[in-house]
Amino acid sequence: MSNDWQSRTKAVHAGSRRSQYGEVSEAIYLTQGFVYETAEHAEARFESIGPDEFIYARYGNPTVAMFEERIAALEGAEDAFATASGMAAVSGALTSMLRAGDHVVSARALFGSCLYILEEVLARFGVEVTFVDGADLAEWEAAIRPDTKAVFFESVSNPTLQVVDIEAVCKLAHARGALVLVDNVFATPVYSRAIEQGADVVIYSATKHIDGQGRALGGVVLGSRDFIRGTLEPYMKHTGGSMSPFTAWIMLKGLETMSLRVRAQCASAQELAESLEGHPQLAKVLYPGLESHAQHDLVQRQMGAGGTVLAFELKGGKEAAFRFLNACKVGIISNNLGDAKTIMTHPATTTHQRLPQDQKELLGIAPGLVRFSVGLEDVADLKADILQALEQV
Ligand SMILES: *Cc1c(COP(=O)(O)O)cnc(C)c1O
Repeated sequence: MSNDWQSRTKAVHAGSRRSQYGEVSEAIYLTQGFVYETAEHAEARFESIGPDEFIYARYGNPTVAMFEERIAALEGAEDAFATASGMAAVSGALTSMLRAGDHVVSARALFGSCLYILEEVLARFGVEVTFVDGADLAEWEAAIRPDTKAVFFESVSNPTLQVVDIEAVCKLAHARGALVLVDNVFATPVYSRAIEQGADVVIYSATKHIDGQGRALGGVVLGSRDFIRGTLEPYMKHTGGSMSPFTAWIMLKGLETMSLRVRAQCASAQELAESLEGHPQLAKVLYPGLESHAQHDLVQRQMGAGGTVLAFELKGGKEAAFRFLNACKVGIISNNLGDAKTIMTHPATTTHQRLPQDQKELLGIAPGLVRFSVGLEDVADLKADILQALEQV
């Protein structure tokens, strides 16, 4: 692979390792372990493992290594570690580097499972976490202390699509010696420049746009070789959150078409958001690509596009939202995102059901809010379907 290649070329070729058969599509090495020719070879491999040598699939596997190399090349990161799910990536990245007594600053607007890790798991192990409004740089500045070890946020929050200024928060964190970990799912690897913008560690749920077709759970952590191999890998390989070779193969094939899919989904999301804005049944339309988005300039600077997810609030609250969802014929009611199929979610009663009412209000998760992950269907069909469903509300 050449480092000069554009990202679409890397997404197709980077990381490929061909066996002696010269297969075109990446081989799936569905094996838990590897055979050593002699006892001396086994001893030598356990002493020091080479870049193309493997011991046990929990530690590494050729198909998984291909996925790690490909996504690292795309993201411009030194290295990557693939995990069993996005949450294995988030929890592994945080718990591998933190210990009792450490301090963490996190944005408040988080995916439910991320909130569980930050709020409950870390507290149980004696890590202090301060939550801030991710869009408010003054709050970040006040919360990050000289002894802060890590800063964590979703670069675009779920489901209200608030954007955190990666470059500005990294400057504040780095000035105090803290590491910045970014959950970059909503930005997608296609529009991400998080490493270049200063993030030390970038995390994806590969379940979302990387697979993009609803087949498998997976995740990945990207960062410096020192962090990935020195801090994260020892933790992951002994605690068991590694990606399976079959999943790695799905994700490799997903990366090959990801750019085409995500750009098409993003173009449709932009068109839908623009045409829905101002609709009499809607209290608001939230989409980072809209000029009316509170952080429109930051979105353009940081991602250059609004992403594949929009959200809108129906004026009639939960009852109207449910009537709308039940009247749609193209989009399906589920809770994944980034999929080829348009997926509609009612956050207040599903993904964010557990949150107390005051937290929901603080985060803008209103009873009428619908999250809309735009798929690969014809945008004219999606638009017509939304409009007919709004009519029925
Ligand atoms: C889905 C998601 C995760 C968790 O990923 P899984 O693959 O479901 O474990 C983490 N963060 C964000 C922002 C997500 O959307």
